[in-house]
Amino acid sequence: MAEFDLIRQLQQRICAADAPWRSSCRVGIGDDAAVLESPAGRQFVVCTDSLVQAVHFPVDTPAAAVGHKALAVNLSDLAAMGAEPAWFFLSLTLPEPDTVWLEGFMQGMAALARECGIYLAGGDLSSGPLNVCVAAIGLVDTGCYLTRSGAAAGDLIAVSGRPGAAAHALDCLKEGRKASAADRLALEFPTPRIALGQCLPGVASACIDLSDGLLADLGHIMEASAVGAVLELSSLPCPASLAPLPECERWSLQLSGGDDYELCFTLPPGSSDRLDEIRRRSGVELTVIGQITDDPGLSVRAPDGSDFEPARSGYEHFRGAGG
Ligand code: ADP
Ligand code: MG
Repeated sequence: MAEFDLIRQLQQRICAADAPWRSSCRVGIGDDAAVLESPAGRQFVVCTDSLVQAVHFPVDTPAAAVGHKALAVNLSDLAAMGAEPAWFFLSLTLPEPDTVWLEGFMQGMAALARECGIYLAGGDLSSGPLNVCVAAIGLVDTGCYLTRSGAAAGDLIAVSGRPGAAAHALDCLKEGRKASAADRLALEFPTPRIALGQCLPGVASACIDLSDGLLADLGHIMEASAVGAVLELSSLPCPASLAPLPECERWSLQLSGGDDYELCFTLPPGSSDRLDEIRRRSGVELTVIGQITDDPGLSVRAPDGSDFEPARSGYEHFRGAGG
């Protein structure tokens, strides 16, 4: 397929006709750059994230999952900042224009773009090893964004959903075992917590999305906020697919596994009654799993009160998982 045919197809398939911010994209695909209207009283929240084959996803990942996930990880970053998704850009590096693969890829990306109302405003195409880079732009009311740096001693630590299933799927695939359907769905089609993120400004004191693993990402909140934390493993909600595992193995997956794309946030203890209302509005399970402390450092408490040391740490590029 020729380059411009492919661009036209991407435009036809992925640009959501009813995206709320479509008309604010005054110039989109087809010119040298996009022109976006800046809405009065709002600020832009901008992020970018790449998916590189064999680094971020196994070589045999279905094309629809690659399309979904490349957009989902960016939507998750917007959610963590409390932003409403508006526009995105897609830079696609392909070894060859494989029409079957592209069909799946576009279907996966288009379905999520539609669901989240985000509009494709431009991008780039080149040939080379498979690499999907998305940049996304969201909007917040001026000043109403979340950061990692506002957590204070005494704040509660909450998490959405049930972390661990994606890491379990990845372990199974790496070891040549078959992952369960639920775990595979968590790994390949993560759900960015967009509605939840937009409920949190004004309530949460700090927020992050879980991409590198709960401990590593909570560690980023601790560092940015200059605080410590205590996590209670008895409170950590367990995905059904992990329930049969020995506790130590399950906790390690849940704490250090990564790829969850859940939100972890802190909130003042006096706001805990707001959690029910946020649960209702966002439709997402929320669980208090610990508390922020003055003492620096993180302690993870097992149900018997002892300290738990996970067998592996979170994912870091240039070091590898579990190092
Ligand atoms: P230039 O050479 O000036 O950078 P391109 O030929 O790369 O322009 O792109 C032409 C138009 O097509 C631009 O508006 C660009 O945003 C759009 N475009 C290119 N690749 C993609 C893509 N993968 N997804 C969406 N739009 C794209
Ligand atoms: Mg140009």
